[in-house]
Amino acid sequence: MTDIRASRRVFFAAWPDAALRERLASLASRLQHHCGGRTPVIDNLHLTLGFLGNVPTAEIASLQTLTERLTLPTGEWTLDRYGYFHKPRLAWLGGPPTATLTLWHARLGEALQASDRSLPAWHDFRPHVTLLRHAEKAPPATLAAPEWTWPLTRLTLVESILDGTRPIYRVLAECPATATASRRD
Ligand code: ATP
Ligand code: MG
Repeated sequence: MTDIRASRRVFFAAWPDAALRERLASLASRLQHHCGGRTPVIDNLHLTLGFLGNVPTAEIASLQTLTERLTLPTGEWTLDRYGYFHKPRLAWLGGPPTATLTLWHARLGEALQASDRSLPAWHDFRPHVTLLRHAEKAPPATLAAPEWTWPLTRLTLVESILDGTRPIYRVLAECPATATASRRD
């Protein structure tokens, strides 16, 4: 069937590998005992690198090309603290951006700027994995967070479809990171 939607809701993200996904999912279930709320579908756990929102369907192909042409180094990110966004009532696990994440975000920003788009300002970037939506409480300060390493291997352009109660994420394009894609600066 032909898809005639005029726009797509899109964002850039990284997905955890299978082992980390399992650990994050079981952590989300444990955190739910403290905070209430709803855990995400396990395959939906992700780190958002930039949210574009609705983009005209005619412009999606150029975003796919942009994604595939990015040059990204492999690296790591450490998740070591819980957090809570009050307004949307999201409880999360995250950590400060590493040099690799900062570089990924910068390269994404440059590529978007070159095609007359932009990401939200860097200071708004709070890398996190949402573990609970509609959480009633923030994670208790007394609750020790784990310290987990996330290998950064791939950046993904994703479409979010919000038709039902759970979002459906569809991969539109991917950029594998490479060990040789060193810093240019
Ligand atoms: P739901 O909205 O049904 O809870 P969701 O938040 O996962 O699901 P989207 O709203 O499409 O789905 O968001 C996709 C990703 O982009 C999520 O990680 C979300 O936190 C992030 N995101 C959404 N809106 C913004 C925004 N205005 N600024 C930054 N990130 C956003
Ligand atoms: Mg949302």
